[in-house]
Amino acid sequence: MRRKLVVGNWKMHGDQAMTTALCAEIARGVKQAIARAADPASVAEVALCPPHILIPLAATALADSEVAVGAQDVDAHANGAFSGQISADMLVDSGCRYVIVGHSERRTHYHETDALVAQKTATALAAGLSAIVCCGETMAQRQAERTEQVVERQLAAALDGIGAADFANLVIAYEPVWAIGSGVTATPTQAQQAHHFIRQRLAAHNPRAATCRILYGGSMKPQNAAALLANADIDGGLIGGAALQASDFLAICNAAAT
Ligand code: PEP
Repeated sequence: MRRKLVVGNWKMHGDQAMTTALCAEIARGVKQAIARAADPASVAEVALCPPHILIPLAATALADSEVAVGAQDVDAHANGAFSGQISADMLVDSGCRYVIVGHSERRTHYHETDALVAQKTATALAAGLSAIVCCGETMAQRQAERTEQVVERQLAAALDGIGAADFANLVIAYEPVWAIGSGVTATPTQAQQAHHFIRQRLAAHNPRAATCRILYGGSMKPQNAAALLANADIDGGLIGGAALQASDFLAICNAAAT
């Protein structure tokens, strides 16, 4: 049984006051949910990914809580002369357990290729982080019936550099680009179809990979979370806009409880 995982991606939002308040409120909500649950494992795992500069503050605010900290990106190199970049070891040192790689905003705005995303994934896993590898098609690709081809290409690149022992720390996020920040969500059927396809590709690559969690991302909100999360291959959510309001984010976490 795969435990559900809900990850908040704050993108380039927030300041110190917001970080302290939002982390405290979410930590409190998750603690209450665990106290209410007959089985604590039925409550979704939760992680928050603030901007890099707010990670140490979030880690302090979430210390002794059930909420993990993650980052939104990492450099592909282990260390070196790469001004402005942040390494996987630095993220670990600052309290991160997760890192998102290959988000469509990075692929689009910063021209990240499948090869670079694969390098970042391998570097993150080597440092002991759980890598949340994003994949997903644009609307033009979906309309051209190329969703599976695009997702398979993105996935194959990331999987190629991963040793079997690392699958335990690999998370896939299916994020149709047209659904991110748009208010338009994939239907539960569309999402489940894509997740099932990803699960099949993972299994074909390595049976151990089939146990990876596959998150859905793209305008997941309290109103649509339960219907999405009810599907067999949807193991949680990667949440953007709704992660900036504690009540919305906690409602999604509660919808993910099994
Ligand atoms: C995201 O940033 O990964 C995301 C899914 O954003 P939103 O929930 O706002 O669509």
